[in-house]
Amino acid sequence: CGIFGIWGHPKAAELTYYGLHAMQHRGQDGAGLVVNNGKRLLSHKGLGLVNDVFSFAEFSQLSGNVAIGHVRSATEGSQVYENVQPLLFQSQIQSMALANNGNLMNADRLQSELEHKGSILQTSSDTEVVAHLMKQRSMEVNETAIADALNQTSGAYGFLILTDDKLYAAVDPNGIRPLSIGRLGDAYVVASESCAFDQIGAVFERDVLPGELVTISDDGLQSSRFAMRGQRRMCAMEYVYLSRPDSDVNAVNVHASRKQMGKELASEAPAAADIVVGVPDSSISAAIGFAEESGLPYEMGIIKNRYVGRTFIQPSQELREQGVKMKLAPVRGMVEGKKVVMIDDSIVRGTTCKRIVQMLKHAGASEVHVRIASPTIQHPCFYGIDMSTYDELIAANYSLDQIRSMIGADSVSFLSVTGLEKSIIKDKTIHQGICAACMTGYYPVTTDSTNSGNTGS
Ligand code: 5GP
Ligand code: SF4
Ligand code: MG
Repeated sequence: CGIFGIWGHPKAAELTYYGLHAMQHRGQDGAGLVVNNGKRLLSHKGLGLVNDVFSFAEFSQLSGNVAIGHVRSATEGSQVYENVQPLLFQSQIQSMALANNGNLMNADRLQSELEHKGSILQTSSDTEVVAHLMKQRSMEVNETAIADALNQTSGAYGFLILTDDKLYAAVDPNGIRPLSIGRLGDAYVVASESCAFDQIGAVFERDVLPGELVTISDDGLQSSRFAMRGQRRMCAMEYVYLSRPDSDVNAVNVHASRKQMGKELASEAPAAADIVVGVPDSSISAAIGFAEESGLPYEMGIIKNRYVGRTFIQPSQELREQGVKMKLAPVRGMVEGKKVVMIDDSIVRGTTCKRIVQMLKHAGASEVHVRIASPTIQHPCFYGIDMSTYDELIAANYSLDQIRSMIGADSVSFLSVTGLEKSIIKDKTIHQGICAACMTGYYPVTTDSTNSGNTGS
């Protein structure tokens, strides 16, 4: 998911729309915003893409200086209107709206505790749990109530909370999910990804720190800490796949890190081939790096139909497979008779790779050597990225050689965890650490619900 907030700009809702549009890749199942028009909080949201949701929005009726917004990537079974964020709670005492990017691992238990105390929850979203926890603590939502609520949760998150007179932003104590602060003139902007700042002409100022609670109001920006700040463990998948190449995540440019992953991969697992081909869009950076390091020419061997969205986020396997076919096509003249190194950023279920190897071979490639610019994903993510069961992870269930034969490649190699770390962490004092739990099984945060898995820590 992606979140966006703005404080102190007369076109708050429109800028939120632009910011969300820049972060469309973070979630395609729903989008919405809540604006404070000075008297009330007003909401506009819906299922689907940002442009679909906002094509009928009357921005003249969404006037106000403060807004928050959300793009949602839904997990299976949760694609209903009620779950589209921001969640808005109107109240005579104090209205509020919440938007969250991440996952609370103990949400089910918290929800059942709340229900036993008489709360009625209207959504199946974790975010609503936090709203109730805050209201239980005090009638008025303030720093203390927010800190108290967040401290009852465990997981990974970036939260935006809008009340009648304040905008709060918080990041989980391990800083697994990204959230940055920017300035647009006198206005404050908060976004999951810095590409949203560039979109609206805002300037990046700093990241929200792990365990930090930022309060923005007419008095400016105040910072407090709701939890002991751990070492930052930014989600490695933000670099591998999730973020846009032009974004800087935790002070590292995403394109640069991907290119370095490609270079590391070329030196770890070279291939005797004629050309290097990347799977558009997310693997192009790594393919360029691989080509540069190996000295092989980079070629456009696969093109993408730009009118098809991200295939991974489709909720069922049939839709995903159909999606890959609609989305990608080989450039026959480029690959015919050639030995091809095919770079993809990651393998989750193996759907994409299998189809593309087939595609390249049908188009006449004599050999296809698959090189994956991230380590094998063998463990589920409990922190908000939709890779949630062992069953669906091909690398959790099959050996390297089995994977090779399942995807029909002549050879396959993955980047090492060390190669991944080297590509992201340039300076340990600045970038600290990463979460790579889905690849290593070492989970920076654990709770009852992860104990069924291989949890490491
Ligand atoms: P697979 O097809 O193996 O199930 O998934 C891997 C492919 O999906 C890659 O091409 C990657 O670019 C894309 N993808 C889309 N969303 C995600 C995501 O959230 N995580 C990962 N690792 N890959 C994703
Ligand atoms: Fe990111 Fe993987 Fe960690 Fe989930 S487990 S937060 S996808 S690195
Ligand atoms: Mg891809």
